[in-house]
Amino acid sequence: MKDPFGRNINYLRISVTDLCNLRCRYCMPKEGVSKTSHDDILSVEEIVEVARIFEGLGIKKIRITGGEPLIRKGIVDILQGIGDLEGIEDLAMTTNGILLKKYAKDLKSAGLNRVNISLDTLDENKYSYITRGGKLIDVLEGIQAAKDAGLVPIKINTVLVGGFNDDEIVDLVKLTDREYIDVRFIELMPIGEAIKYESEHFVSNQMVLEKVPQLIKVEKEDISSPAVYYKLPNGKGKVGLINPVSCKFCAHCNRVRLTAQGKLKLCLHSNDEIDLKDPLRKGQDIEKIIVDAIKLKPESHRLESGEYISKKMYQIGG
Ligand code: SAM
Ligand code: SF4
Repeated sequence: MKDPFGRNINYLRISVTDLCNLRCRYCMPKEGVSKTSHDDILSVEEIVEVARIFEGLGIKKIRITGGEPLIRKGIVDILQGIGDLEGIEDLAMTTNGILLKKYAKDLKSAGLNRVNISLDTLDENKYSYITRGGKLIDVLEGIQAAKDAGLVPIKINTVLVGGFNDDEIVDLVKLTDREYIDVRFIELMPIGEAIKYESEHFVSNQMVLEKVPQLIKVEKEDISSPAVYYKLPNGKGKVGLINPVSCKFCAHCNRVRLTAQGKLKLCLHSNDEIDLKDPLRKGQDIEKIIVDAIKLKPESHRLESGEYISKKMYQIGG
């Protein structure tokens, strides 16, 4: 599928739930996240059906996200259904890793290729603080379980939070030295909970290069990837820098998003959504709705001019 700006749309991110077993300070409020009624979110079968339609339209890569995807009932069935679609060449997941120990093997058998695991600190007290109660050991065991199950390459996503984890940059980069693990530093984006948080805690990714000057830039394997990659001399894994605000990657954007409520989002930073759930339930032509929607994909986001969206990160999936 080509959008009006000639970009080939071949990547779909599916959020399977708005709920989460953590409460990261920059992502979710401490309290007051209400459970959406069962009927308002896509069922397992509906998610697989929409994925199948997208596959028919040329989507080759799907990432499952959330909220926390591993707390979604039927997550293995969702993976199985999508894993069976022959046109999907890459099936990945973004997770906080807490439940990977329990699910890694089943997810791999169902067809999941690899995982991105979010981890902002290597200190257990700080982990508990930033996630409001999470246990670091669960994530570390989850990472091991993912490796054992062959969910590779493993990518660690670290949101850089000024005054919180900027003192751990060197230790996090070191994770890439002896193992085939990529660590990607993401700049805080002014979305939802983070609008206030961002103004107080934003640090530029450039700090990674300042703290670890020996990093060497490496060629991008995938032009549509938002990360710019580096390596330690002789390091096994890569270090990625993702600067969504200061360094736009819209020109190479190849993705669209589906929320747990069945809304199609053409740009992470736009409020515009196209409903697929009701038309799907009414038996309407979803393929046509998607093809028409792609014509509306904006050329670029306008974050730098302060146009922030009202939806929260945990409702879109990053
Ligand atoms: N719960 C899963 C997890 O944490 O990996 C998947 C959903 S989470 C919303 C996806 C990613 O978005 C995580 O890596 C998280 O750190 C990141 N994220 C959440 N809020 C963010 C913000 N305001 N700025 C940048 N990244 C953010
Ligand atoms: Fe949950 Fe992921 Fe948001 Fe943390 S970043 S609160 S783990 S959805």
